Amino acid sequence: MKPRDRLRIAMQKSGRLTEPALELLKRCGLTFRQSRDKLFCFGEGEPVDLLLVRDDDIPGLIAQGVCELGIVGRNVLDEFRLTAGRESEPLAELRPLGFGRCRLSIAVPQEFDYSGPAQLAARRIATSYPGLLGAWLREHGVEAGVVTLAGSVEIAPKLGTADAICDLVQSGGTLVANQLREVDVLLESEAVLAGPQNMPADERGDLIALLLKRLDGVIQVRESRLLLLQTPRAALDAVTRLLPGGPQPTLLPVAGQPDQLMLQALCAGEVSWRQLEEIKKAGAREMFVLPVEKMLA
Ligand code: ATP
Ligand code: ZN
Repeated sequence: MKPRDRLRIAMQKSGRLTEPALELLKRCGLTFRQSRDKLFCFGEGEPVDLLLVRDDDIPGLIAQGVCELGIVGRNVLDEFRLTAGRESEPLAELRPLGFGRCRLSIAVPQEFDYSGPAQLAARRIATSYPGLLGAWLREHGVEAGVVTLAGSVEIAPKLGTADAICDLVQSGGTLVANQLREVDVLLESEAVLAGPQNMPADERGDLIALLLKRLDGVIQVRESRLLLLQTPRAALDAVTRLLPGGPQPTLLPVAGQPDQLMLQALCAGEVSWRQLEEIKKAGAREMFVLPVEKMLA
């Protein structure tokens, strides 16, 4: 790798991952000046620049050292890891990012009688993920024909070029529209931060460490909720026992009501309606669940 003192992050130029990825980087305190060709965005505050590319190119760009990091679907990263040559720089999934969730699944025509992977023996399966599909078939000891297609995989059974498909599914709407049904999941995917397995031993390594720290803070905050409620002192134990996991709650006196307390608790995840109902039954009232904007422990 050529020594460079600025970090480059590759992300999808236009697609499902673009908006959430930009939003996440913004929350990490990174801002960019968009260049006119819109391929390269210069980082303003920190020495971190953006490369806007097709998502499929991202792992290769990291492996070639054109950029250090990338935001890409686990499906694309894992496919690259399975199909890249041995001489290619090994890549790592540094963090799951919690958006762009989907599954890589096997889907078959409605009338296909599917009871397990063995049913796919000697069939033709169309996919854009021959690496992941091949690994899954081997794992199940199934020999099938893999038909690699760049896109529109879901119409292959109708065209008669495949008996089943292996494709990304989110809501399942595309499958239903093509009279297909999802029968097996190969991979649960989401956007991830991808990077080299061996971190660069110069300033870029320090920048990556700093970015990971901020990212962890942002992800933790994004999933945190602040729970506020009032409870009679007598019900405090019962209420506290029902609180979702998190650090010890803070208790505050309520003016003019010595038998009441105000309780404040940081919760590690969403607080459900059912949990709120139970806390209320235990004696709490005036309950608020608030999103957390920033947090500095
Ligand atoms: P390009 O190659 O031009 O960057 P694309 O068409 O390959 O774009 P998108 O359709 O935007 O890419 O999908 C990008 C990523 O979003 C996928 O690799 C996957 O990780 C994720 N994703 C989430 N839901 C879906 C879905 N229903 N279909 C396809 N991808 C999905
Ligand atoms: Zn793509």
